[in-house]
Amino acid sequence: MKKENTWISWNENVKHSFTNSYDVTTEEEFADAIKNSDSVRFYGSKQSSSDIAAGTDTLINIKNYNQIIDIDKASKKITVQSGIELKDLLEKIESLDWCIPCLPDINTITLGGALATGTHGTNGGLISSYMTSCRLIKADGTIQVINEDDMLMDAVRVSLGVLGAFSTITLQCEESYTLHLIEEPESDALWTKNLSSYLSNHDFLRILWLPHTGMGYVIKGKKIPKDQHVEEDLGPAYLKNRRKASKFLYQLTKTAPWTIYFANKILYKRFFKSRKEHKGNLYQATVTKSRGSTLELAEWTVDFDKFPSLLKELSETINSFKNKSFIHIPMDVRFVDSDDSWLSNAYKRKTVTMGCVSRDASSADSYEAFKTVENIFLKYGGRPHWGKRFAAKDPELTKLYPKWNDFKDLRKSMDPTNKFLNKYLASIFSEKI
Ligand SMILES: Cc1cc2nc3c(=O)[nH]c(=O)nc-3n(C[C@H](O)[C@H](O)[C@H](O)COP(=O)(O)OP(=O)(O)OC[C@H]3O[C@@H](n4cnc5c(N)ncnc54)[C@H](O)[C@@H]3O)c2cc1C
Repeated sequence: MKKENTWISWNENVKHSFTNSYDVTTEEEFADAIKNSDSVRFYGSKQSSSDIAAGTDTLINIKNYNQIIDIDKASKKITVQSGIELKDLLEKIESLDWCIPCLPDINTITLGGALATGTHGTNGGLISSYMTSCRLIKADGTIQVINEDDMLMDAVRVSLGVLGAFSTITLQCEESYTLHLIEEPESDALWTKNLSSYLSNHDFLRILWLPHTGMGYVIKGKKIPKDQHVEEDLGPAYLKNRRKASKFLYQLTKTAPWTIYFANKILYKRFFKSRKEHKGNLYQATVTKSRGSTLELAEWTVDFDKFPSLLKELSETINSFKNKSFIHIPMDVRFVDSDDSWLSNAYKRKTVTMGCVSRDASSADSYEAFKTVENIFLKYGGRPHWGKRFAAKDPELTKLYPKWNDFKDLRKSMDPTNKFLNKYLASIFSEKI
């Protein structure tokens, strides 16, 4: 056990003091650390914007609990320790010619962190929907094996690490496939009109919505045979400087946020006007492998059917003269299949997810867009991403998640002394600690 004092999140917006910290490498160490603590959280890559990974007396770092335990070639299942980084997991899966068919746009997070917060990509389920079994370390340090057909599975898949800690996880993979991707700008009028047909005619759809420009950058992909030729065109070389240029321009807009309106038009003209065409597997062709700087994120999800009206209201609100919410580019629009996980933002509904980014993490508290986006999504029954910024608490969440009260009861029975709650999580579940 090491003595340290301050835990700092990736983007430095969440800081907590603590008394004890453990770096675990075995299930036994992980379970003992939980058993012997009165107040404990476990963390992976610290890349969540919400305050859910620390803030307790004891912290457990799972990043070295990261081994591959088993590969079952016949059933395409892989079993790993929960601290494995997606990069290592996905490279292994890729080497077997398999895939997880719905990937987030980040590969530096841990599998445990990804499952706990309902992390997802587009055109598939949350990563946790591919989990077929897990070993859960409960508050008393005992292990419970949970399989697909167990009652607990739907509660545990997305559970913020408040029912217990994932020890090992088995994922169902699928045969790898190759995507032919075409990326190009389209007016909002065009892509919103065609949304349903784009979804039914493509295997991959992601729209980088460009607030204040009336445009979206639409990425469409279709599965093709691996050896089919595609004339690759990745556009001009300067496109790779998009994030750096955005960060620079948005620094200049800091004192007068309304100038974001113009910054976005410049960024659109410079970085989103080119058409790109390429092919590759889901991981290689669509997941960002490196980012130069930090950011702060929110993300909300809404019923597919409600999305067009919501987008209209959002556009009108942010472009009106009364507006104080000028939003950085892009707002990432993706599509998630309905599922049965109690705290999934796609619980029992086909869902559209929409990201909201502040490229300057340090000024996130004064970034009005987070509040405006949250208010509008709440009006439409939107649900937040657990790992990103939101202000909603128990009274709002209970209206959004049909199984919210069942989850609260289960949490109380599995963690009667609230050892897994920090202050933030306690406020979400209306608990006193
Ligand atoms: C640049 C960037 C891009 C992103 N892109 C996407 C995206 O495309 N799609 C998407 O859905 N999300 C995305 N996210 C959000 C991200 O996937 C989540 O915040 C994720 O939880 C981060 O994983 P982590 O390893 O950093 O977890 P941490 O932030 O360290 O922890 C997150 C939560 O998981 C819990 N936890 C950690 N390990 C375990 C375990 N073993 N058992 C139980 N609970 C555990 C922690 O206690 C904490 O509550 C993105 C975030 C960033 C910063």
